[in-house]
Amino acid sequence: MNDEQATSEPVEQETKPSLLATISLMLSLIPWAMVGQALLIDEYRLGPRWLRNFLSIDLGILILAMLVATVSSIICGVMGLAAIERDKFVRGKWKAITGIVLAGCFGIFVAKNMLFSDGTPMGAREVARAPNCIVHLKAVSTAITLYADDHEDQMPSTLEEMVDGTYIPLRSTILACPLTGQEYQFLGAKKIWRTNDTEVAVYCNGDHRGMRNVMFNRGYVRTITPDELEKLLADAEKAGQSDR
Ligand SMILES: [Zn+2]
Repeated sequence: MNDEQATSEPVEQETKPSLLATISLMLSLIPWAMVGQALLIDEYRLGPRWLRNFLSIDLGILILAMLVATVSSIICGVMGLAAIERDKFVRGKWKAITGIVLAGCFGIFVAKNMLFSDGTPMGAREVARAPNCIVHLKAVSTAITLYADDHEDQMPSTLEEMVDGTYIPLRSTILACPLTGQEYQFLGAKKIWRTNDTEVAVYCNGDHRGMRNVMFNRGYVRTITPDELEKLLADAEKAGQSDR
């Protein structure tokens, strides 16, 4: 006690912020900012084109980059805390703790969404390499949005048409279900994008715990029962026949 009082006398030793704590906090914000931006793109189509392209496509690399930022943030935060503990003239304890907590929450978020997406736990490498079916369909949705922006709101005649390096990278795997490997079925050929809430644009034939994944013309992706899908497809066929 007396020691502490002695050192807190006007010795005027300056404290300096911990660089590691600052880096930890900044790194922990990156993945969350990316998730936020990806959600905004989904809902409101915000952001510059290069960022939209970056966020919607090559999800494997994107998730890997986010995980690297997350792990680095936790490491920097812990090292920062240790440094602060050692040297009382280094400050930034709460920055380091915030960084660790934010990065940790992101890790849990990714684990919850990716690892158990199809009921089967996957290794970290598979998480980075094989995003789930819904993630694929959302990426296809964003690609169609980019395509429609350039083609008077019209969808392409086939999904493969978008695999030209502009809308979908040449070696991309997003046009097939990552679980079953089946190609997605496309019903939107040359139709106007984002005009109908109930019309199926793209769907996956694969079985996802007894459910089916569907992308509607409006752009959103939903998981529905096989019966619901069958009914929607029957409706689509009826509508197609009356068009002719
Ligand atoms: Zn699927």
